[in-house]
Amino acid sequence: MRTQSVAYIARAELNLGRHSTRLHCPFCTEVIETIVITEPTKFTHIAAGILCVVCFPCAWTPYFIDSCQRMHHYCPKCQNYIGTYKK
Ligand SMILES: [Zn+2]
Repeated sequence: MRTQSVAYIARAELNLGRHSTRLHCPFCTEVIETIVITEPTKFTHIAAGILCVVCFPCAWTPYFIDSCQRMHHYCPKCQNYIGTYKK
């Protein structure tokens, strides 16, 4: 007799934050700590442009502030994209 397993992917229920989050990966079903990769947003580039005019040495500051970045969460075991934290 064959058994079948079904994996339900419910991204809407994932509670992702700014930092690595402990959860069940919806793809490999392992308990994992997500890998977070940051990406600048449109706001980051605009803020950097304004700071470049106002205070040139401070122009790079938005690229080092977490609240100016978008956080993409990935599974360290299966490398699948899990979700994005947006403010
Ligand atoms: Zn996984």
